[in-house]
Amino acid sequence: MTSRISRLLVAVVATAGATLGVTLANPSPASAAMTICYNTSQAGSFVGVAGQAATIWNNATSNLTLTANCGSNLRIYSITGGGSYAVRTSLGNGRVYIDTQQAQQYSPLRIMSHEIGHILGLPDNYNGNCALLMSGGSAGTSCTNPYPSSAEASRVTQLFAGTRVGPDRADSVGGQVFRDSWPSTMLAPIG
Ligand SMILES: [Zn+2]
Repeated sequence: MTSRISRLLVAVVATAGATLGVTLANPSPASAAMTICYNTSQAGSFVGVAGQAATIWNNATSNLTLTANCGSNLRIYSITGGGSYAVRTSLGNGRVYIDTQQAQQYSPLRIMSHEIGHILGLPDNYNGNCALLMSGGSAGTSCTNPYPSSAEASRVTQLFAGTRVGPDRADSVGGQVFRDSWPSTMLAPIG
């Protein structure tokens, strides 16, 4: 009996606190988790990998929710040849291209998480450190780490703090292009 009352009191206090917090401290809905809709209609064999990468980013950040096929903030394409790359039209919006040939050399999930990292605001950081996601192909084909470091994840959370992702802007013209994250090993000279 007592514990039921206690639980009820806790619930009431928590609700009141949450209401107060929203009303007084933070009237903007921008503090809620932002949804980035990614579209996999042209992702070919990478649909599953896209889902895994979305889960990784959702778990790594505190204010983002990447959700499949609720819109087109982010379009994911499967391409053959030319290299994987990302085009960020604005923060949280853009297009990711995954090269099927490159995905046979490097971990497809690492490529996907990395390229989505560009859409989420991160630049390349080619320092060869496999613990970093944005080191990309500089960490070699043996590096399969698909997780952002705590610093990389914190940076994304920081970038999205107090901002809102605009509606469906994957198809905007222009944007920042991130290429050559995954150097070809097939073309490397022998000897
Ligand atoms: Zn890159």
